[in-house]
Amino acid sequence: MRILIAGFQHETNTFAPTPADYRSFLHGGGFPALCRGQALFELAEVNLPLGGFISAAQSAGHTLVPVLWAAAAPSAAVTEEAFERLAGEIVEAARQGGFDAIYLDLHGAMVCAHCDDGEGELLSRLREVVGPELPIAASLDLHANVTAGMLEHASALVAYRTYPHVDMAATGARALGLLERIFAGERLYHHAVRLPFLIPINAGSTMLEPAASVYAGLELRDRESAATLSFAAGFPAADFPECGPVVWGHGADRARLVEAVEALAAEIVALESRWSVPFLDAFDAVAEAQRLAQGASRPVVIADTQDNPGAGGDASTVGLLRALLAANVERAALGLICDPEAAELAHAAGEGARLRFSLGGTPSLGEPPLEVDCEVIRLSDGCCRYDGPMMHGTLAELGPCAQLRIQGVSVLVSSRKAQLIDRNLLRMVGIEPERMAILVLKSSVHFRADFAPISEAILVAKVPGPMAADPADLPWRRLGEGMRSKPMGMPFSPA
Ligand SMILES: [Zn+2]
Repeated sequence: MRILIAGFQHETNTFAPTPADYRSFLHGGGFPALCRGQALFELAEVNLPLGGFISAAQSAGHTLVPVLWAAAAPSAAVTEEAFERLAGEIVEAARQGGFDAIYLDLHGAMVCAHCDDGEGELLSRLREVVGPELPIAASLDLHANVTAGMLEHASALVAYRTYPHVDMAATGARALGLLERIFAGERLYHHAVRLPFLIPINAGSTMLEPAASVYAGLELRDRESAATLSFAAGFPAADFPECGPVVWGHGADRARLVEAVEALAAEIVALESRWSVPFLDAFDAVAEAQRLAQGASRPVVIADTQDNPGAGGDASTVGLLRALLAANVERAALGLICDPEAAELAHAAGEGARLRFSLGGTPSLGEPPLEVDCEVIRLSDGCCRYDGPMMHGTLAELGPCAQLRIQGVSVLVSSRKAQLIDRNLLRMVGIEPERMAILVLKSSVHFRADFAPISEAILVAKVPGPMAADPADLPWRRLGEGMRSKPMGMPFSPA
């Protein structure tokens, strides 16, 4: 096959403060920077769906026609300009023809300023250009809000099966498998079931039950039904009617496919009350971490989930930092606070300097910055390579960064936001995570891949921030009629 390949990923939190403009896609915000043409092949070894697809396709002898790959940190809606420029380039490349199939590396939860369903829109424009028969396969994030439009216009969709997403490359390879079946002439049917409740992201980790068993069971269900099943738990912070979890599959035997999809959906719904995790407030989380850290040889991790820049936060809230300082903790580290001005001041002052300034703060929440006295311990250009299980091989470019020490707390301050999912981000400014008693990480679940193996315990804190850990806390206006805004929650009805 000659396969046109492109990637365009965004996870949109419509309640978040900051939109994703074209510039956000240029540097990637923790993802690889925007690349075009032959540069896509440099992602072959990165744990991204595109990387897995490229490796599998090249070893199978297919020819690839690369267009572009772009992603931005999760945030509020993608601007019309950013969508039209990037989607427009992909559609234009498709218009040139000269290929037998298309592979897209998509997220599946992109909302744009001018349309609710970014991926459905892109797929429908491509379908218009290439006609009804040409195979189009896309890989999706486990947090995709899968829409009827996406299912209609793609020939096949497959989602990750792990959260933390350690199987991104494997999912890209799975998408190739489906393209090959279609190209070989197999007629693949699809069947989908929309589930009736939103799943909080913290509750969806496949390192915890019930997600661990549900996802682990997919392989057996695939074999038994000769289909490829997916379960996207959805991204429960996108206010549009198709927000929510969807189970679907593609298979040549329609009856067995339908049976398998319906059975999987029924099992997930039967476990409804178990899709939740306990939360602590900032002060309780710090007190509990101090208690657990006594006599422990490994750090206690607190996830600052509501300011997770991987879900729309700006990595700027200071609620947990305030609680750490109030408790006079020792050997604590926090990563990261995105504050370009603080990073610039630290760089101007130099290592060893003592400074007093205002750090972080989130105006959209009415949260003022924190006045701090600090010492500049280590400066960095903000470039590092991830080695953790999830994004290994990715080069992060966070702009000028610094380790600031405030009492007993070492804070990684950056110029661009990124989710704290990899220990190398802390090491970049001289923080050795294994030597800390308490680590506060701005991440919801992805940190578990690299940090669970070195941690004594993991606590999840619910501190004011833009990403509601409990989706029922959000001021929904456009959710689907009857959708429960959390497991066992109240059905939504439009005002
Ligand atoms: Zn995800």
